[in-house]
Amino acid sequence: MGAYTDFHRRSIADRESFWTDEARRIHWHRPFSQVLDYSKPPFAKWFVGGQTNLCHNAIDRHLAARGDQPALVYISTETNTEKTYTYRELHTEVNRCAAVIAAQGVVRGDRVLLYMPMIPEAAIAMLACARLGAVHSVVFGGFAAASCASRIDDAKPKLLITADAGLRGGKAIHYKPLVDEAMRLAKHPPKNVLIVNRGIDKDFKPVPGRDLDYAEETRKHADAQVPVTWLESSDPSYILYTSGTTGKPKGVQRDTGGYAVALASSMEHIYCGKPGETMFTTSDVGWVVGHSYIVYGPLIQGMTTIFYEGLPIRPDAGIWWKIVADHKVSVMFSSPTAVRVLKKQDPAYMTKYDLSSLKHLFLAGEPLDEPTHRWIHDALGKPVIDHYWQTETGWPILSLAPGIEPAKVKYGSPGYPVYGYDLKLLRETDATEAGPDEKGVLTIAPPLPPGCMTTVWGDDERFVSTYFSDFPGKLLYSTFDWGVRDKDGYTFILGRTDDVINVAGHRIGTREIEEAVQAHSNIAEVAVVGVADPVKGQMPLAFAVVKDAKKVEAEADRAQQEKEVLAAVDRQLGAIARPKRVYFVTLLPKTRSGKLLRRSIQALAEGRDPGDLTTIEDPTALAQIRAALGVK
Ligand code: ATP
Ligand code: MG
Repeated sequence: MGAYTDFHRRSIADRESFWTDEARRIHWHRPFSQVLDYSKPPFAKWFVGGQTNLCHNAIDRHLAARGDQPALVYISTETNTEKTYTYRELHTEVNRCAAVIAAQGVVRGDRVLLYMPMIPEAAIAMLACARLGAVHSVVFGGFAAASCASRIDDAKPKLLITADAGLRGGKAIHYKPLVDEAMRLAKHPPKNVLIVNRGIDKDFKPVPGRDLDYAEETRKHADAQVPVTWLESSDPSYILYTSGTTGKPKGVQRDTGGYAVALASSMEHIYCGKPGETMFTTSDVGWVVGHSYIVYGPLIQGMTTIFYEGLPIRPDAGIWWKIVADHKVSVMFSSPTAVRVLKKQDPAYMTKYDLSSLKHLFLAGEPLDEPTHRWIHDALGKPVIDHYWQTETGWPILSLAPGIEPAKVKYGSPGYPVYGYDLKLLRETDATEAGPDEKGVLTIAPPLPPGCMTTVWGDDERFVSTYFSDFPGKLLYSTFDWGVRDKDGYTFILGRTDDVINVAGHRIGTREIEEAVQAHSNIAEVAVVGVADPVKGQMPLAFAVVKDAKKVEAEADRAQQEKEVLAAVDRQLGAIARPKRVYFVTLLPKTRSGKLLRRSIQALAEGRDPGDLTTIEDPTALAQIRAALGVK
């Protein structure tokens, strides 16, 4: 990887000239005078003195050259609709929405909370906020009322935008009653709620004096032309709360100019998406992936973005590949969870459609085990690039960069450090650098590159104490993930630092054991947690989902499967890592963003309270864990 190594080296050693070059990818209303102000570590200000605007870069800038090109294609397999917005049409809608938001008294710097399903109005409202210099905070639609209320109280929005309902697998999720409840629970509720009425909730009743109808309000501003508010590069663009897998969600604050530059550059060097091409990211606007690669990234690059509402397997498991074929998608981005869902379906769907337009499939969000990586790679016949990042960083930390150098995929690895990141793999004990094949904590030597969080919303102190205090006496950003690097420079993620199991003094990542369990051909998915053990300190427990459920129906078969799985772990890691038990379940508890809730499983296994479960996808998964463990 010679070319890439040089590219990365320059991004660290020659930071100013490197980012000056990258910054040319976006429009600056006023050029910046200083690339980086790092006078107050670890707070970094990128492109000081520069003025820009995300909405202008995502839409207005493209009007002359690509006004009639599709900007956003909304495809809903929930309502069977498909609607295309050209750049010009998107511009019109965003102006209308911006006028409505402004009419509610929202000005530059004010927050607007969005609690929206995957409908175009979600993207339109985000872009409208950006146009006005208002700070949007998108809360994943479907979060419980209490989660929404706590985010309202933290962000203190002036306006809330929502819809009557979302749809999932043909079932309506009524947002309006959830919002009513959140508004009641919140100490600082906004005065007004703007509601997109999709006509799904038949009992829909607006609250007089509080609720505004989106269609009616935008009609009043049908011809509105709202000038772009030019922001300082370091002005906040949005707040986004982390998934809350490991505790209380943190309000990640993002800047404007650094973010735009990071996204524009990643579209080129990492995703290889060209203007005029189509990108399909299967995430949700409620997550960071949705912010960066459904909305802002592809639009800043002048691409067409596919905005998909629906499941990967409805009407059938070929739907995503049909979309790729129909819309000549060149860049696709999804998650390991979704791929594991597809892996359980008929493989014929993978070859049914013409996927010749597709260059790469990118995956992120959680560990991609080697068998799944290999499976999807072979099934698609395209490079599948696992890449690793966090809500905090806004764009990848570890990835291959096929825009710089053709992708040499190593199954199970998200590749090497992305340019701009001075990534170090450090020994926990003394913060010295781990050698090849030695485990360490993934840390970033600040300043964090453009695009990364600038602080915790309203709490600079928490930013420092949360992220920069893992290694006493050293100012280093901790990802709280544990990894290992091989001699070729490829990093493998071993799990979160608080998921590391200590078996009789041996430190083993839950991820390592999960990989070993997954080596067994009948295992589709597995969660491993460490539980307290009087002799060994901790022992791993495994909860596995099998592909062929018949093989674990009878007691004797279950015992046989368990034996085989344990043997697989012995073979790969040695008896030291062997789980105390393997329990078979049909479902694992996950957050709505598809992340395993290991902490909750561990708490149940140790007889403790499973904690805050408002972000759980399907509560029956925990019931299965309880049943397997025989606890109430
Ligand atoms: P919280 O920080 O509130 O507990 P979270 O960490 O789950 O929530 P995100 O920012 O959405 O919230 O997730 C980032 C984490 O997801 C990473 O720190 C890592 O643990 C995991 N992750 C993301 N991508 C990958 C990947 N490609 N391989 C392995 N793990 C990944
Ligand atoms: Mg996290």
